[in-house]
Amino acid sequence: RGAPPDDQQLMQGLAEAPDVEAQMVTLVGLRELSEAERQLRSLVVTLMQEVFTEFFPGCVVRPFGSSTNGFDVHGCDLDLFLDLGDLEGPQRDPKAPASPALDSALASPLDPQALASTPASPVDSPGPASPQDSETPASSLAPPTPDSALASEALASPQSLPPMSPVQEEAGERDLGKTWEPGGSLKGEEREGEAMLELVGSVLRGCVPGVHSVWTVPSARRPVVKFCHRPSGLHGDISLSNRLALSNSRFLNLCCALDRRVRPLVYTLRCWAQGRGLTGSGPLLNNYALTLLVIYFLQTRDPPVLPSLTRLTQMAASLLAQFFSCVSSWELRGSLLSLREGLPLPVADGLPPGLWGGLRLGPLNLQDPFDLSHNVAANVTGRVAGRLQNCCRESANYCRSLQFQRRSPRGRDWGLLPLLQPRSASSLLSITPIPLPPAPFSQLCAAISQVLEETLGCQIEPNGKRQSPGDGDGDARLRGTLRKRPRLEREKGQTSEGRQGEAGTEEPALEAGGEEELALAAGGEKELALEAGGEEGQPGSSGEQLHRLGQPLVEREVKPLENPGTEEVVGAVQGEETGSEAAQTWLCTLCHRVWLGRRRVRRQLQQQAKGEMSWLQAEARVTQELIAQESRKQRPEPEPPRPLLTFAAATSPSGPFLTLTQLQDPQGLFPDLHHFLHGFLPRTVRAVLGCEKGD
Ligand code: ATP
Ligand code: MG
Repeated sequence: RGAPPDDQQLMQGLAEAPDVEAQMVTLVGLRELSEAERQLRSLVVTLMQEVFTEFFPGCVVRPFGSSTNGFDVHGCDLDLFLDLGDLEGPQRDPKAPASPALDSALASPLDPQALASTPASPVDSPGPASPQDSETPASSLAPPTPDSALASEALASPQSLPPMSPVQEEAGERDLGKTWEPGGSLKGEEREGEAMLELVGSVLRGCVPGVHSVWTVPSARRPVVKFCHRPSGLHGDISLSNRLALSNSRFLNLCCALDRRVRPLVYTLRCWAQGRGLTGSGPLLNNYALTLLVIYFLQTRDPPVLPSLTRLTQMAASLLAQFFSCVSSWELRGSLLSLREGLPLPVADGLPPGLWGGLRLGPLNLQDPFDLSHNVAANVTGRVAGRLQNCCRESANYCRSLQFQRRSPRGRDWGLLPLLQPRSASSLLSITPIPLPPAPFSQLCAAISQVLEETLGCQIEPNGKRQSPGDGDGDARLRGTLRKRPRLEREKGQTSEGRQGEAGTEEPALEAGGEEELALAAGGEKELALEAGGEEGQPGSSGEQLHRLGQPLVEREVKPLENPGTEEVVGAVQGEETGSEAAQTWLCTLCHRVWLGRRRVRRQLQQQAKGEMSWLQAEARVTQELIAQESRKQRPEPEPPRPLLTFAAATSPSGPFLTLTQLQDPQGLFPDLHHFLHGFLPRTVRAVLGCEKGD
């Protein structure tokens, strides 16, 4: 791009645009900095950085304002903050020089000649050496990118957002203003501040090639040194105590990234206000104030175009966790997720008549916003949709753990790391649910019990929910058994309170297999407790962890806490949860490989029985025969059966799926079993349900 367009070119460019929206976008294009102009600014910043480093080792020159906030225009001023880092501390005695160059400058702080003679070669400069150096000033001059990556990057650092209230801001800035004040009288403090400002002015004047017209404005609300840089044609301000400006510039930039209509609107209104003499210096609004007015307007639309700062901070903390918990709880099969409307449209009874002919409904229905008759996820099977929800549920639970929220002091994987590591094959199976036939939940549970126990010969232990109420010992025993099964001997009989205490000193792990696996499938290590001891329908009242295997039934908000044992459960039990239809879990122990050779044995039995057996009877007989065959193989004496494999099976009223989680599997048999049950279970459960109907 060549020279910036003049007013006539601007007007002509706008006149040629097809509509007002295009005019607003054109205005941005014609007024914003070109790439070359940005690079030039970066070079000037780099030059200043090199010179100031000679005098203040470790300092960082940080641009803010229109060079970084997304509202740059040709020739806009270059607002710079000279960040002196530790030098700013109150202990800092301005008379104690930070470098030989400064030493010499302070000998005659207001004498430009003395400074000019100070060796300050940019070539020899060691460059910035402070910890903030990774953020090079030049790189922060990048143009605003209205994309989600930038937004999420900014969202991920809520701490970089400015304080909430002007009072706080003022207090903070007053402190910053005192940076150079050794604690003497106001007059003395002011003099010190002014001296430092003059010193910076002298460095600029004497040591930065091409700089001219330097003068200090110590009386401004934020004292600055003004300067011009002849080779680039740039003019700007350097301030010493304006850290908040970095935050608010970043906030404005984030607003640009959050909605691409923000820049055209602000550019248009800035231009409009300037033409009407509303913005400028003195009693007029400045551009920053006008921009905040526009952002406030956008925050107060219905629905809001931009979130409030408070909301932004909340979002930054919890969007990832919220995504997982929302997606895991959505009723996917029965709804069409409409991006056009931003709503789930109920389709459990089919599509609304006459609408979106051709849209193929399935386990996951995501309507293409531009082709309403197209389900972009029509190819997704129930198994995959179920796995998506299980993965989300598991990850939502993990996001509640300290392991997610805090960096591990012991170097363990923490935060995102466990979420991004690929899962092992067997742990993938644990989140691959087995589809079940539709049926009333209680009947379904009864049928599953029957298949597991009678047809397959599992020793099963259903969850405490359905045992006699008030059987406290039984509940505790059950919880202990379930949680501790992999370490049965060591931890038998431990109560949930005991576990919570232990969890407070131990980080949970998101690793495949065994205990952690179960904990994750079930609701996070610290939260795993079959809801057995607590009163039904009184969530949170006792602090009892209301999670069940495979299904978090309580909408929770868990604050990051020091001690997870004192976590508050906030929220309400949803839907059927308070009634009799709670999630159901069975602890299953198999002592025989009842999936091996079934077909052969079934054929033999069917031949013997000449087709007089029902499917269910046949399958139960097959299991018996397989067990008998195995016993016969044991010589000389059949041994008492020993557990071969233990696993948990879980289902909940919200989805017709059974989720299996391996608990103890020393021989690695779980994948075979899972594969077998995937085919066998739905069919056999259906047979049981069919029999019941027949009765
Ligand atoms: P331009 O320089 O093109 O007029 P700008 O976006 O740089 O636009 P300025 O008015 O120069 O706006 O403000 C620069 C920065 O200084 C702002 O981004 C803000 O961080 C800070 N600032 C300006 N005015 C105020 C104010 N009244 N209160 C607090 N900070 C302000
Ligand atoms: Mg400015």
